[in-house]
Amino acid sequence: MRTIGLLGGMSWESSAEYYRILNQGVRDRLGPTASARCVLWSFNFAEIEELQHRGDWDGLTTRMVDAARRLEACGADLLLICTNTMHRMAPAVEAAVRVPLLHIADPTAERIKAAGFRKVGLLGTAFTMEHAFYKGRLAERYGLDVIVPGRDDRATVHRIIYEELVTGRVIPESRAAYRAIMTRLVEDGAEAIILGCTEIMLLVQAADSPVPLFDTTALHAEAAIEIALAV
Ligand code: GLU
Repeated sequence: MRTIGLLGGMSWESSAEYYRILNQGVRDRLGPTASARCVLWSFNFAEIEELQHRGDWDGLTTRMVDAARRLEACGADLLLICTNTMHRMAPAVEAAVRVPLLHIADPTAERIKAAGFRKVGLLGTAFTMEHAFYKGRLAERYGLDVIVPGRDDRATVHRIIYEELVTGRVIPESRAAYRAIMTRLVEDGAEAIILGCTEIMLLVQAADSPVPLFDTTALHAEAAIEIALAV
């Protein structure tokens, strides 16, 4: 089994889900006492989100590269960045290590394509919904037509992530807000919706959406299991 290196703690609420999915997936495949070989680097998310909101992407890149090298030195055979937003630094991380990085958008897009969808809604942080690094990869590599909520809805999605989900709070009113926003995405033509933030799966499930949901946390972790067990 290969050793999975996790760049996590962004937030630890979602890293805990990665850890659970990886271990349950290995147990399902290999037997009741089997579990995933992994190494976790867990950031203090308060530092990370402060740098994000200041726009200090250079400072974030320095930290991500340093952590990736530490995971490689610990024996990781492949790396996962356990957040969509921090994939903005994926090219720098990839360039800094010899081991492969499994990009979160790739298994997500592959599954969407396999299901036959082309126009997809994207929910995530403002950084993920508004910057090019994520939508661009989905469009250029996979030919997906990615739409995002309107300005006020994007602000709501972002606020709920940073004020509630990363702090461990799951609030029914916020679920209702996400449901309404997903309905508006569908009215705008979305055939499916990407949960493009690794904490959204804590708030929203398939039954909350009129169209299929693609949860990046589960898809990313499951793709890592396939790679880890492919030897
Ligand atoms: N986990 C979230 C994501 O997938 C947000 C936290 C972060 O900014 O890293 O984007």
